[in-house]
Amino acid sequence: MLRVAVIGGGPSGSCAAEVLAKAGISTWIFERKLDNAKPCGGAIPLCMVEEFELPESILDRKVRNMKMISPSNKEVDIRLDPLGYDNDAYIGMCRREVFDSFLRNRSAELGATLVNALVQKIDTGTNRQGPYTLHYADYSNGGPTGEMKTLEVDLIIGADGANSRVAKAMDAGDYNVAIAFQERIKLPAEEMTYYEDLAEMYVGTDVSPDFYAWVFPKFDHVAVGTGTMQQNQSLIKGLQKGIRERARKRLFKGEVIKVEAHPIPEHPRPRRVVGRMALVGDAAGYVTKSSGEGIYFAAKSGRMCAEAIVEISANGSCIPTEKQIKSTYLKRWDRKYGATYAVLDILQKIFYRNDAAREAFVEMCDDRDVQKLTFDSYLYKRVVMMNPWQQVKLTLRTVASLLRGQALAPSNYGSVPSAVGRSDGDFLAEEASQAIKSKASEDPASNSEERSKVTSS
Ligand SMILES: Cc1cc2nc3c(=O)[nH]c(=O)nc-3n(C[C@H](O)[C@H](O)[C@H](O)COP(=O)(O)OP(=O)(O)OC[C@H]3O[C@@H](n4cnc5c(N)ncnc54)[C@H](O)[C@@H]3O)c2cc1C
Repeated sequence: MLRVAVIGGGPSGSCAAEVLAKAGISTWIFERKLDNAKPCGGAIPLCMVEEFELPESILDRKVRNMKMISPSNKEVDIRLDPLGYDNDAYIGMCRREVFDSFLRNRSAELGATLVNALVQKIDTGTNRQGPYTLHYADYSNGGPTGEMKTLEVDLIIGADGANSRVAKAMDAGDYNVAIAFQERIKLPAEEMTYYEDLAEMYVGTDVSPDFYAWVFPKFDHVAVGTGTMQQNQSLIKGLQKGIRERARKRLFKGEVIKVEAHPIPEHPRPRRVVGRMALVGDAAGYVTKSSGEGIYFAAKSGRMCAEAIVEISANGSCIPTEKQIKSTYLKRWDRKYGATYAVLDILQKIFYRNDAAREAFVEMCDDRDVQKLTFDSYLYKRVVMMNPWQQVKLTLRTVASLLRGQALAPSNYGSVPSAVGRSDGDFLAEEASQAIKSKASEDPASNSEERSKVTSS
């Protein structure tokens, strides 16, 4: 019987382990930290709720209004209701500590053996063809250092995120990583009401030279963050200051309860399958450009990889070859999503180029066809065919917006108006006595490991 180890208990690992366990294959899922709060905005598309049978109880908020804010603070509201979706359409907002533990526990309930351990070393056998011996520190007994153990398996799924050890063991090659920084800011109830079902996306050189910044609502706080590509990593703290400054009047009386940062892969690794080791999710490099979306693609790649393994191993009765894994999992993945990644890469290059292009981008988001196209592909992961007239209109609008963007680009930035309608005078008077406070440094849950990474970069 085939023995499979899934390294990493995030969405990619849990969704892989679940499929393998359901098929009756001997499956171990390794997670180093069972209460891990992966630094993440936590936005998921609606289709994921149904496709992965997620209970609504693990969602903090249902966002029905996405506010796009241009460099000159021009605001465009994209409301999902008037776009004509049949059912209640929303973007799900979750806290990863809740989301990940639900999926991980479900895979264990379905028969995967959940091991609370850090995999430290992998012996990969002759020519990396296995069998594979994992050396891991088992924390099941609660000690700080763990008990060293080994396990031999026939196949490994590397679902261990952007700093993947499996990728190193299999010599998958490097990828560029963007850096994302996020503060969780708790707001008083009256300020939080504004973010009830609303999320904000800010663009501008002040918040990111090549990405966007966000304010995403969670249960009792907002996640405020930004990201930038590898070559601009040293700017990240200044960019976070930028988003704080721009959203300052809406984050009034906020208290920083957690500071987090983490790398985001910019593109897939050169090799995603070597021997009987396959990478999924962030370990493989499946985050989209422009939107920075990775949760759905992590879960989906874990599932697709595991389904391919179940199929080619005839439910675990034989050991698949490297060639078989490549010609099922990788081929199907690239066929299904290759175009999506390519298109989002191009859009990022066009619209996040400079502030004039960003003005044009936000202006275009005011168009109903653009909104429908964007949200159909994000919420439902489906390709929308446009009729020729819509295509012509969209092309002309893009060109016109880009040209007009040159005139609209701002020379400096200001903060957006207060969410609760205070005048500038009231705001300044109140702010003088109450700036955003921080208790993140005293917060034991705060991700100090990741913070120090950013500090040193
Ligand atoms: C600040 C930020 C904001 C983001 N916002 C969004 C968003 O709003 N929406 C979205 O779709 N995507 C977002 N992303 C991207 C998203 O977080 C990732 O794409 C997603 O988490 C990838 O899932 P994964 O399972 O592949 O890896 P991860 O979620 O990174 O999970 C890997 C798991 O492996 C464990 N692990 C690692 N090494 C070992 C080891 N050696 N032994 C045992 N366990 C190990 C880790 O503890 C972790 O639990 C964001 C990313 C960042 C950094």
